Amino acid sequence: MRRLSLLLTILAGPRAAQGQAPAASTPQPILIKAGRLIDGRAAQAQANVGILIDGERIRAVGPLAQVQAQAPTARVIDLSQMTVLPGFIDAHTHLLLQGDITNQEYEDQLLKESIPYRAILGARNARIALEHGFTTLRDVETEGAMYADVDVKLAVNRGEVPGSRIFASTRAMAPTGMYPIGTPNWEIELPHGVQTVDGVDNARLAVREQVQHGADWIKYYSDRRYFFTPDSVLHSWVNFTDDEARAIVDETHRLGRKAAAHAIGSDGIAAALRAGVNSIEHGDGLTDSLMDVMVRNNVYWVPTVTVGVHVMPRGGVWPALVALERRAFGRALRKGVKIALGTDVGGFPWTEINQAKEFEYYVQYGMTPMQAIQSGTSVAAALLGQEQNLGAVAPGLYADLVAVSGDPLRDITELQRVKFVMKGGTVYLSQ
Ligand SMILES: [Zn+2]
Repeated sequence: MRRLSLLLTILAGPRAAQGQAPAASTPQPILIKAGRLIDGRAAQAQANVGILIDGERIRAVGPLAQVQAQAPTARVIDLSQMTVLPGFIDAHTHLLLQGDITNQEYEDQLLKESIPYRAILGARNARIALEHGFTTLRDVETEGAMYADVDVKLAVNRGEVPGSRIFASTRAMAPTGMYPIGTPNWEIELPHGVQTVDGVDNARLAVREQVQHGADWIKYYSDRRYFFTPDSVLHSWVNFTDDEARAIVDETHRLGRKAAAHAIGSDGIAAALRAGVNSIEHGDGLTDSLMDVMVRNNVYWVPTVTVGVHVMPRGGVWPALVALERRAFGRALRKGVKIALGTDVGGFPWTEINQAKEFEYYVQYGMTPMQAIQSGTSVAAALLGQEQNLGAVAPGLYADLVAVSGDPLRDITELQRVKFVMKGGTVYLSQ
């Protein structure tokens, strides 16, 4: 058996050894002529760059004439009138959700739509994201659709449907009674948007189950019920005991995964940081001292401004959260908190708002256009632990590229008008 598998490996080449389909033949190299390159890492754009692509990955990047000389027979894609960038990464998405500005919209999806139906929409959403230039998504839970994010990922990876690369979190976690759907009718048990988890043993079991079924990340809800005190600090009710939260994060790390915590109020953020999470999701109530902990412990912040603005019509505390987060954003920038771009799309409809709107908010909130671009490319790739694969235009990385016709360093909204998308060396959009 072992000899047979070795033989198959040799016949099929190294890709088969990684569990991917063998290439039918060596593909012709591709040379992209980039009028301007923003590579995701460098502080400046470069003019007249050649990008040489072999199969799924980038082989060389440099002055056009020099790269062209390396592959005279390459197929040329002429983007000499465009700005080329790395494929964008959205580090906070919900493929299985279609907008939930009201409780009714949320409950209708969990109660009146089957998981297969929701998964079909999830596949559509992965395509929308890809065509908007988001070649990678960290999808942070399915909102009651079980492990359907892993199925969407599988179909994309097998080439059955076009879509972004997906880092899946599956079901997420909250304790009993702390996540919708709730009802005063105790005679019926309604579906919940998360896996219900109580106690440290259950926490470890839930992490193991989710990883078993394909979770790349573990997500849990650190808090709920947000309220201000007179000193303008945003507080919240913390969901898990410290022991429970620590068990979730410890088991996640033990299994080689990373943990993301939904944490909006200062109490929820503090609890998540005590537990040792890798990223704070939303984080509206970040205080200066919490930011210092994040910098010290290399914890990333994923602000999701787009959804915050979108849900302001809910009223209540939500409009104040947007203003609070804007102030926190400026302070976090000055302190050097690592900010990875994430939108919470799914909390707003995939079909109505382009995720690249998030870049525009970050510039409004104080980032330079280059900082905003890096937030949605190389910084997000570092959050994912994928610096060797994603988030930059550099030799050895996946050939995930987008192009826009204008200069996003002058007008960041150019990123909402992507004209060209390549993922893994395959062109998905060319206008
Ligand atoms: Zn979310």
